[in-house]
Amino acid sequence: MPPIQTNDRILSSCKPQQNHAYCMHKAHRVMKYKSRTRRAKSTGQTLSPISGHTRTVSYLGLPPRFRNEPRPLLSFILRVLDGKHRQMVRQHLEYFLRFDFQIPTPEIERIQRRLRGDPSLFQCAVNGMISSMREMADMWIDSGKSRTEREVDFPTDRNVEDVLPGRACSLALLIYRSLLRSHPVYKEMRRDGSQTITETYPRFDPQSHWKLEDALQAHGTKWAAFYFSGLLDSPFSRHISRCDHCKAYFAYHRARLRKVKHGVFCLACERQSSVKRTEGSRNRRLDTAAKERIEWESRRKGPAPPEWIAEQVNKRHGTAFGRRWVSQNLEKILERVEALHNAKG
Ligand SMILES: [Zn+2]
Repeated sequence: MPPIQTNDRILSSCKPQQNHAYCMHKAHRVMKYKSRTRRAKSTGQTLSPISGHTRTVSYLGLPPRFRNEPRPLLSFILRVLDGKHRQMVRQHLEYFLRFDFQIPTPEIERIQRRLRGDPSLFQCAVNGMISSMREMADMWIDSGKSRTEREVDFPTDRNVEDVLPGRACSLALLIYRSLLRSHPVYKEMRRDGSQTITETYPRFDPQSHWKLEDALQAHGTKWAAFYFSGLLDSPFSRHISRCDHCKAYFAYHRARLRKVKHGVFCLACERQSSVKRTEGSRNRRLDTAAKERIEWESRRKGPAPPEWIAEQVNKRHGTAFGRRWVSQNLEKILERVEALHNAKG
């Protein structure tokens, strides 16, 4: 962001021999900028404790790489989770790292030289953010799942306190360790002098790590914790879900209030699973029909009447088939009858 300059300073730097049109243009630009900041301040935004500038980082008031959509934070997190947006994660992290490098120290200059010399080094931060975001999302989603039946999911039960099987700590402790314990909150001032407590964006802290790779990884984790804790504190925390089949993360339009008993599936897998479920129940009905036919034949002479077979299937499966269903599926039923006879030897 350009530094705020007053019109006086701009005009005083205008020497008589300079083109006056240029100065007017520059002054106009500054005035436009000033009116924009004035507008921002009048809406109640605070000034940054470091620069005194408003904290807005884009014209929408959203962090960079966020999109103007109904649930920007949730959608951003889903893009981080899918792992296909590595470039987006990198650009996001690099954008904020610039502010951490604003005050050059010998340590910062050494880090900058290493990052310039080996751009792939920054992938440590990208990996840290993606893998930690996945870990946190998994812990959160799994906290609502039944410990005994894998297909049962009850998002209302989700919590950050339980230590889940196979995990070393709770989600709350993970977020405390990676972010909250060291995350400063500032008192900030508005234009009129009134004050509020605001948290800052996570800062890069190379001091606490020996290796730059570890410091970058921890920085990515800190950002993941920053956004995921923001999601937990939002109305959309129970919208996020994970497909039991393909393991993709997705979001419902509304939080599910009922217990899911037959597994959670993304849209693509839901279609497949419903086809499978239909096939499964159809096969089970045909099996019953074949068994009943064999049963009839063992006790009486001649094939079982279709009405009787349909009645037995209806009793067992709660269906309402007539003789037509039996005649339509006769070939398949007879195949099963033969297979059962063969199995008996
Ligand atoms: Zn799926």
